Amino acid sequence: MNTRYSISFPPEKIKKPIISELIRNFSLEINILNADVSSGKTGKLVVEIFGKEQNLLNGLSFLNEEGIFYRQIQKELIVNINDCIACGSCTGVCFSGALKMSETFNVLELNSSLCVLCGICIKACPLQLISLNSNGKIV
Ligand code: SF4
Ligand code: SF4
Repeated sequence: MNTRYSISFPPEKIKKPIISELIRNFSLEINILNADVSSGKTGKLVVEIFGKEQNLLNGLSFLNEEGIFYRQIQKELIVNINDCIACGSCTGVCFSGALKMSETFNVLELNSSLCVLCGICIKACPLQLISLNSNGKIV
């Protein structure tokens, strides 16, 4: 099972090794897609969690017990490739490498597994071809 979550840490929990406890105690694999953590403030992670369903449920219960807020990410990035003019504006701002131009520089390619759903590329597209939706559909 592979699921994406946004996890928010209150300031007093930022230094606790929550992620390593999830890995060690619940046999979960965790891929951190995005991290926004600054000392003394709330921390936010976007993670991809791999593991057995029961292990995942146990791990989420652990987060609840620790007072750490999480939510499952249902949204996916949609790019209207048909109307794309391959200008490259979106690839220039995509720090994760999810959006790239093809080797011939005439086709935009999206690798959804690298997308951290930051939304930066949405504003970068002059034709407004990029959006987020909750249907998990890429057109
Ligand atoms: S939302 Fe856009 S800019 Fe952000 S990681 Fe995904 S493709 Fe890249
Ligand atoms: S910014 Fe818009 S038009 Fe330009 S390559 Fe990206 S999706 Fe295509």
